[in-house]
Amino acid sequence: MKNLWNDADAERMVAEYGAKGIARDLALRVYTTRLLGGDPRLVLHGGGNTSLKTTATDILGRAWDVLCVKGSGWDMAVIEPAGLPAVKMEALLAARALPSLADEDMVALQRANLIDPASPNPSIETLLHAFLPHRYVDHTHSTAILALVDQQDSERLCRKVFGRRLGFVPYIKPGFDLAKAAAEIFDAEPSVEGLILDKHGIFTFADDAKTAYDLMIEFVTMAEDHVARAGRTPFRAAALPASLASPADIAPILRGAITVDHGEGRFDRMVSDFRTSPKILDYVNAESAEELARRGVSTPDLSIRIKTGPMVLPAPEQGRLDDYASAVRERVADFAGRYRRYFEENDARDDVRRTMLDPMPRLTLVRGLGLFGHGRSHKEAKIAADVGEMLCEAVTGAETVGSFHPLALSDLFELEYWSLEQAKLASNKPKPLSGQVMLVTGGAGAIGAATARLFASQGAHAVVVDLDADRAREAAKAAGNGSIGVGADVTDPAQVRAAFDRAVETYGGVDIVVSNAGAAWQGRIGEIDDALLRRSFELNFFSHQTVAQNAVRIFLMQGTGGVLLFNTSKQAVNPGPNFGAYGLPKAATLFLSRQYALDYGAHGIRSNAVNADRIRSGLLTDEMIASRARARGLSEKDYMGGNLLGLEVRAEDVAQAFLHHALAERTTADVTTVDGGNIAAALR
Ligand SMILES: [Zn+2]
Repeated sequence: MKNLWNDADAERMVAEYGAKGIARDLALRVYTTRLLGGDPRLVLHGGGNTSLKTTATDILGRAWDVLCVKGSGWDMAVIEPAGLPAVKMEALLAARALPSLADEDMVALQRANLIDPASPNPSIETLLHAFLPHRYVDHTHSTAILALVDQQDSERLCRKVFGRRLGFVPYIKPGFDLAKAAAEIFDAEPSVEGLILDKHGIFTFADDAKTAYDLMIEFVTMAEDHVARAGRTPFRAAALPASLASPADIAPILRGAITVDHGEGRFDRMVSDFRTSPKILDYVNAESAEELARRGVSTPDLSIRIKTGPMVLPAPEQGRLDDYASAVRERVADFAGRYRRYFEENDARDDVRRTMLDPMPRLTLVRGLGLFGHGRSHKEAKIAADVGEMLCEAVTGAETVGSFHPLALSDLFELEYWSLEQAKLASNKPKPLSGQVMLVTGGAGAIGAATARLFASQGAHAVVVDLDADRAREAAKAAGNGSIGVGADVTDPAQVRAAFDRAVETYGGVDIVVSNAGAAWQGRIGEIDDALLRRSFELNFFSHQTVAQNAVRIFLMQGTGGVLLFNTSKQAVNPGPNFGAYGLPKAATLFLSRQYALDYGAHGIRSNAVNADRIRSGLLTDEMIASRARARGLSEKDYMGGNLLGLEVRAEDVAQAFLHHALAERTTADVTTVDGGNIAAALR
């Protein structure tokens, strides 16, 4: 592993923070923490922490000896001094005399002794840092170190590789007991330059930032070299079908199968993130992949991300997706059943009341293809996939030097169902559309963009489709929540298919489709150019059909219902003079919405329409508004507010109607009017 310390960078950071009143020792602590945090082979999504023993001054001007230790919720790769809250050393050291300390009390003690009470919670490994005498303490869950400690005879192997330079601490759950045990092992042999924590990771320490960091890189490199020297490829590859289906072919099947079905048409959905590489393929194609997956995870805190380990699926054969779908459902049922047994058996060992987490996998290995991470958001899914990649490396390394033997599942349970983690559950209220994917056409226009924005604010990931790819990406960025923009002409079935493929490749599927793209052509119907009318039908009717067909294809693969929403406009029910070219296809689209409701209701697929009128947009520009208002002798305000409520109807009001339909679980074949009130256009 490359040592990234650079004197010039370090001094630059010291100068930069010095100008903000941050001391040199803390600036250097920030510098090496970022170096460690930037490498996923050392630190991955919270797995690792660092500390510094220094002094800090409280509000009264009193100086205290403190431990500045990584605060929870901070990413080490981009940490700031505020991410290393200062805790009074005196109280932390006094705790060592206690015979025992419950996790909640430990957190309370740490919080009560913060210099700044607004700080984040100090790391759960704070006491371990405090009990070691060195000023700089670095801790990582290095993948190469895990290859050595996830062995039956890990202590012997570590002695062989590191001699007596590192102390060896048997596995204990992080917290007070581990801190005490580690400190005792250090005290018995204070010449060690670090500690190996069995089944968990490594600590290095020194009185200066550079030495502690150098030692971390040196020991990790020794572990890497040991794995590399073992050399042989550990896995025998299982046989694969001659032609494989693609990840996008199977993603909706998998996504549907791991959805938690609460009955009554209610689902907890997840999105997926796919990864593949030669290394990942070696691992997922291994004959032993399934058996390895059941052994557990490479370091216990991964259980918070991927539970007891991955689910393994067979290779999907092209053209046999129906058979594959039932195989996937069987595997998911098997995984969920095992997970339930794991929970029940371990939960029964004491009287603690716990809430079982959903039993669905968060990491799926697909032979022949690669791995999928799953999560209630795209961010979580990507984290699970990152974890999967590192698990793959650690398991491959462990199998190269010996045999992967991680922490037993019974011990893993203690961590996954840690009281502190369970407490977080209660405060984690998902948004109404969490885990759902929506696709909107005409997504860069006023109504489309407002709809993407509103749905994303409710937890959905938006796929913003528009003729103009750049504007689609802008609208997706404005919507936020990891939404994506895709350029497509919705009158071209191949481009519509490609847009849905992008949605599936990115998130694993689609749940809500807002077919919104449209354009208005004018002319008296008896004299209208035939080509123009047909062109309007292409966009204002046939494109809706193409979009809906693609949506239903994916909905049926997922088997978890779905929502179709059509923008049909007031013209669909109340023709305006010379607007036939627009109104006729829109009326057909209104009927289309009802036909989908009728034909697919039994699959839980709902179909609804919104007929809006007089919205400031690409179809009704500021210029048109000005000229029409003038023609009628009205002010713009009176023209736009020419309805029963006397209020201008905005794109956001239309978006609200679409959201209502997405959430109204018992409403289908409905039309919602958003026009401020127009009795002539009222539906009967
Ligand atoms: Zn750790």
